[in-house]
Amino acid sequence: MAEIIDIGDITVDISTQCVVVGAGACGLVASLKLAEQGIETLVFERDTRARGSTSMSSGFIPAAGTRVQKALGINDSASKFHDDIQRKANNEADPALVDRVVAAVRETLDWLEQRHGFRWQVLEEFLYPGHSFHRMHALPGKTGEALQQQLLASSESAGVSVVPGTRVVALLTEAATSQEGDKCVAGVAVERLDGSVEYVRADNVILACNGYGANRQLVEKYIPQMAAALYYGHDGNTGDALLWGDALGASSCHLGAYQGHGSVAARHNILITWALMMEGGIQVNARGVRFSNEHAGYSEQAEHVQTQPGNVAWNIYDERLHQLGLGFPDYQTAFKAGAIKTASTVEELATINELPEAALVKTLKAIDKIAEGNKDPQPLDEFGRYFSVEKRLKPPYYSVKVSAAVFHTQGGLKINTAAEVLNKKNQRIEGLYAAGGAAVGVSGSSVAGYLSGNGLLTAVGLGAIAADSVVARVKGGNVVAN
Ligand SMILES: Cc1cc2nc3c(=O)[nH]c(=O)nc-3n(C[C@H](O)[C@H](O)[C@H](O)COP(=O)(O)OP(=O)(O)OC[C@H]3O[C@@H](n4cnc5c(N)ncnc54)[C@H](O)[C@@H]3O)c2cc1C
Repeated sequence: MAEIIDIGDITVDISTQCVVVGAGACGLVASLKLAEQGIETLVFERDTRARGSTSMSSGFIPAAGTRVQKALGINDSASKFHDDIQRKANNEADPALVDRVVAAVRETLDWLEQRHGFRWQVLEEFLYPGHSFHRMHALPGKTGEALQQQLLASSESAGVSVVPGTRVVALLTEAATSQEGDKCVAGVAVERLDGSVEYVRADNVILACNGYGANRQLVEKYIPQMAAALYYGHDGNTGDALLWGDALGASSCHLGAYQGHGSVAARHNILITWALMMEGGIQVNARGVRFSNEHAGYSEQAEHVQTQPGNVAWNIYDERLHQLGLGFPDYQTAFKAGAIKTASTVEELATINELPEAALVKTLKAIDKIAEGNKDPQPLDEFGRYFSVEKRLKPPYYSVKVSAAVFHTQGGLKINTAAEVLNKKNQRIEGLYAAGGAAVGVSGSSVAGYLSGNGLLTAVGLGAIAADSVVARVKGGNVVAN
């Protein structure tokens, strides 16, 4: 499927100024920006109904300094956001790329609000792990589906040509005209649902087809420790961008990085919000004991849960947190589906979950004791988590059995700050751009580097940057990158 074809060998069926591969948040933001600038664009989407991981997501986009954040009096800034990203990524992300993406996501959310009527709200119920400020933006539905639908509706109004049921199966190339590299991009080959193939000439191709989470072989190769775990993202994310890049001699980076999650309701396969953990809940294993600092982040928790007996854990929390959970659509679905259990005592909680009673009682007593002992400076538990008296768990108790999952991959094609794909000599491959999950993200090299929201941050931010670069190239300006 990773075919590269020399355009000299074929007759093209149609020409356009830009092709966008994939109609998730990344591809739709890019094509909306291109439409505004009058760039003729075709968006090819393999599904008959464009969904992507975007529609499966919670739809929370982090941004600092937006109009809506300012209106709420939140004193956030680009540099604070940059620092949070790098702290989580262990300073492994390209700092120039982080700066550019942080600026781009703010501009883009404001632009979507003012130009396309997106009604952002900032989630203030709880602070997402690793973020110093309330900066998660969501549409009123608080779902990825709401985000995807609004992007599709805006695209339609703006006259964007999204062509569903059309899979890009090859990149077309020709000899490069610039000094850099030996090949440049010249278009794509697309396959329709009836199996017919068409060739499209385009000097600019934006790869917005996400990562390789749905490609078992690539997951086994780059994330072997999670090869047996659930993949919870879109099944169309088969790593085409990475495979084309490899075949073209592109550089890739941080391929072992991914967004994991340690809290997907077992059997029901429904995401259980991490807010429960951040506000006082705990996770125990089949032995009834805790095994990690739940406040470090839900992404790395995937690997902690995956290594527990039976590859499962139980979220334990109480009525206050159950009410908080009910504010999230996924949690409501899990509750209605019967995934959530309730008990009036710890003993009953142990019985209904088939957990060892004595161990569970001991675990809950232990966190109470830590909370009661909390004085300045804040004492931490053995895993480094702080417990407060105000947020201690009280009966009735709630629980849900959860598994670990891979949500999407964060490694990808190496790009410069203009989202141009780089070859192994760090030269740009003319006309080829990667954004969103197709490009290397800002999460460093491992699962622990994923700061909540890094997925849509780079889908929206890099999508906008790639579009700006295409506009500059088409209009004969300079593509500014480092
Ligand atoms: C359950 C879940 C919850 C999440 N919640 C959040 C969240 O709240 N905040 C956050 O920041 N991130 C979240 N994420 C991650 C986020 O969803 C992704 O990072 C983001 O949607 C990526 O956007 P994208 O446009 O790059 O990819 P996608 O939305 O996956 O779009 C890629 C599109 O490309 C298409 N495609 C692939 N190959 C081809 C091809 N060869 N030809 C044509 N089309 C092709 C696919 O069909 C797909 O429609 C979550 C992920 C999951 C799974």
